[in-house]
Amino acid sequence: DPRLHDIKTKIRVVPNFPKPGIMFQDITTLLLDPKAFKDTIDLFVERYKGKNISVVAGIEARGFIFGSPIALAIGAKFVPLRKPKKLPGKVISQEYILEYGRDCLEIHVGAVEPGERALVVDDLIATGGTLCAAMDLLGKLNPFLISYYITICHCSERVGAEVVECGCVIELPELKGRERLNGKALYVLVECF
Ligand code: 5GP
Repeated sequence: DPRLHDIKTKIRVVPNFPKPGIMFQDITTLLLDPKAFKDTIDLFVERYKGKNISVVAGIEARGFIFGSPIALAIGAKFVPLRKPKKLPGKVISQEYILEYGRDCLEIHVGAVEPGERALVVDDLIATGGTLCAAMDLLGKLNPFLISYYITICHCSERVGAEVVECGCVIELPELKGRERLNGKALYVLVECF
């Protein structure tokens, strides 16, 4: 698809951001080009329209930018998965391990009903830790792992949705994040090395 090449050229690579040695994939330059931005959304919409997806869950913050227009176009609701202490209502939380330290994603209780078909959207998959946390939060709890979750994650609550797929604009394949998704389907538009 010729649109994919154009999208890739619009992503700026910023060396040594936010830390020395990191090649940061900057999607803000893609957003500056209305055609490339629209093509990006259209490619996801073409894949997910008619798939009976009732919820698009976007990961803070860049997952909001891509997730909301996809949700509108496929007729699904949009649910933000936010960093801690941002959501005002009662939340379910999922901690996850980063390269240095920990982070957490939260969702409002009741935003998604058990059994709903969900698409998770983010701008980029690197190690896969963020998408794993999003899927853990949205998905069903494995009954054999309840005590593990309570001990390690201090959390036994889950939304109980069916995560259909994760969709990202960019994959960094060298970080092998795809392998961490336990076989869950991942759809990406462009690979960056
Ligand atoms: P992971 O959990 O897969 O290691 O990291 C993915 C998360 O970190 C995503 O939420 C993504 O927004 C952010 N991220 C990591 N590296 C980059 C990058 O180079 N560019 C952008 N735009 N986001 C990144």
